[in-house]
Amino acid sequence: HPSPGSNFIRNLVEEDNRKGTWSGRVETRFPPEPNGYLHYGHAKSICLNFALAEHFGGECHLRFDDTNPEKEEQEYVDAIIDAVSWLGYDWGKHLYFASDYFETMYQCAVALIEAGNAYVDSLPADEMRALRGTLTEPGSDSPYRSRSVEDNLDLFRRMRAGEFADGAHVLRAKIDMASPNLNLRDPVIYRIRRATHHRTGERWCIYPLYTFAHPIEDAIENITHSICTLEFEDQRPFYDWLLAALADAGMFERPLPRQIEFARLNLNYTVLSKRRLIQLVDEGHVDGWDDPRLPTLIGARRRGFTPEGFRLFAERIGVSKSDSWIDMSVLEECMREHLNEAAERRVAVLDPLKLVITNYPQGSEELCEAPNHPLKPELGRREMPFTRELWIEREDFMEEPVKGFRRLFPGNQVRLRYGYVVRCTGYEKDEAGNVTAVLAEYMPDSKSGTPGADNYKVKGNLHWVSAVHGYRAQVRLYDRLFDQPHPGARREGDAPELERSFLKDLNPNSKQVIEAWLEPALRRAQPEERFQFERHGYFVADRIDSRDGAPVFNRSVTLKDSWAK
Ligand code: ATP
Ligand code: MG
Ligand code: MG
Repeated sequence: HPSPGSNFIRNLVEEDNRKGTWSGRVETRFPPEPNGYLHYGHAKSICLNFALAEHFGGECHLRFDDTNPEKEEQEYVDAIIDAVSWLGYDWGKHLYFASDYFETMYQCAVALIEAGNAYVDSLPADEMRALRGTLTEPGSDSPYRSRSVEDNLDLFRRMRAGEFADGAHVLRAKIDMASPNLNLRDPVIYRIRRATHHRTGERWCIYPLYTFAHPIEDAIENITHSICTLEFEDQRPFYDWLLAALADAGMFERPLPRQIEFARLNLNYTVLSKRRLIQLVDEGHVDGWDDPRLPTLIGARRRGFTPEGFRLFAERIGVSKSDSWIDMSVLEECMREHLNEAAERRVAVLDPLKLVITNYPQGSEELCEAPNHPLKPELGRREMPFTRELWIEREDFMEEPVKGFRRLFPGNQVRLRYGYVVRCTGYEKDEAGNVTAVLAEYMPDSKSGTPGADNYKVKGNLHWVSAVHGYRAQVRLYDRLFDQPHPGARREGDAPELERSFLKDLNPNSKQVIEAWLEPALRRAQPEERFQFERHGYFVADRIDSRDGAPVFNRSVTLKDSWAK
C-alpha cells in the first residue's frame, strides 16, 4: 500500500510519538454504524485510518458502532465487512461491536453517578429543551439536577430493569448549564427505548447516546487517535470531559484516546448522504444498492473501480481541516491510472459497421497477434482472427470527410491495428440512405509485425473485430449519475421560490445498454476481470450478471475525461 504522504494528522501523531504519550503505540479505528452501505466518503475514512496505523506499525480496528437499536441490521454488517476487505485492509483480530460494551457502558454511567457527575432527569423532553438556553443565553438547571446519588443510582437501576415507560426519564451528565458550548450543558447520555437490537435483542431497554458511547468504545479498545469528521469538533470537550471523569473514577487508565477531526469528503456530480442514497434506491432511480452509478462501494466494485484506485485517490486528496469540494474527475483519473497499468487490452466494437475487404479471399482467414498490454510484454499476446468481413466503428467512416478526419473515407488508407493497411474503395447504402457496408482493399505485404509493414505510413489506426469470429454481448455504458456538479443546488435564473430537487439533476444518459461486437478472447473473461477496450475505456466483466462463457461488461470509465470543459 502507498504510505500516507505528510498530512496534519500524521504530523500530530508524530508529535505524540516524540512526546512519548502512548510510548509510540498507534491504534486507530474505523467505526461505521451498520445502518446502510458504505460510500466513497467512507473509503476516505477507511484509507486514512488504516494507512495511518500501517504507517506507524500500529493497527486499525473495525468497529461496528451499533448502539442505536432501530436502524441497524446484520445485512449491513456483512456488507461493510466485505467492503473494507475489498479495499484491501485487514483489521486482524480487531473486529468489535459496540453493543458488546453495553454492560461496561452501564458501569461507566454508574461510576459517573457515584462521583456526582450524572443524574436522572425526569423532565419532559420539551421542558428540558426549554431550559437548555441558546448560543447567547445560558441554560438553567433542571429541578432534578440536585437529586442525591442514592436516588440517582436507584432510578437508573430501575430504568434498566424496565420499570418506566419510554421517555419517562433520561440520564444526563452533570457538567455546566452555563457553558458557552451547548454540548456541555448536561447532555443526555442514556434514554429508555424499548426496541429490538440486531445483536442484543430485548436484553436492554435503555441505550447510551452516541456521544457518550463513542469515547467509551475508544477507551475500551485502547485507541490512541480517534479520527472523526469536523462536525464532531464541538463534541471534543465532552469527549475529553467524559474520559477524564471516567479515568478519575477508575474506569480507565491514562493516557486516554485523543480525538482528531478532519474534513469529510464532498464529491461533486454525486450525493454522499445516506438519506439521498436511500431515496435513489427506494424510488427506483437506480438498480439497487450495487448499481454501478451509485457512489456506494458495492456499486464501485460492480462498476470496475479498483481498491488501488481508491487508495490512490485518498492519498491524492489528502486530509484537511476545512471543508472543500473534490471534483469527480479526480476520482475517475485515479481509476484510469490504476487500470491503465493493470488492465489487459482487448478489442470491442460498440457501434458496428461492416467493412468488406474485397480482395481478401472468400472463406480465408488468418491470425493477427496483439499484445495483451503495451507496457508489459510479460503479459503475453493473444490471437485475433482476421477475415474478409470485419466490424469497425460506425464513426470511423465518413462518406465525405470533415477537415482533419484521418480514418476511413473513399480513397484513404488506414491501418487495421495488428493487421493490414487497407484502402477504402467505396461503400454501400440502403434505401434510406444509411451506409450499410464499407468496401476496401488490403495490401498483402502490409501486415503488422512483418518487414513490409514499415513501408506504409498511415495516419488512421482503427480497431476491428472479425464478423465471423467476433460475438455479440451486452455492454453497459455507465456515466455520472448526475449531470450537475451540485445536485439540487439553485442555479442562476431560478425563481426565488423554486426548490430544486436533486432528482431533477439526474443524468438521463447515465446508463446505456448496448449489444457490442467483441473479440473472441473476451468470451473467457471471468467475473470482475478488467480490460481496456482499445480506444473506448476501461470495462469490467459484471460480477453478478456474467455467465460462464458469456460475460456481460460494464464501462468503468472512459479513456479520457469527457466532462472536462
Ligand atoms: P450517518 O451519520 O448518516 O449515519 P455516516 O456517513 O456518518 O452516516 P457512519 O457509519 O457513522 O456513517 O460513518 C463511519 C465513519 O465514516 C465515521 O467515522 C465518519 O466520520 C466517516 N465518514 C462518513 N462519511 C464520510 C465522508 N463523506 N468523508 C469522510 N469520512 C466519512
Ligand atoms: Mg452514523
Ligand atoms: Mg455518522
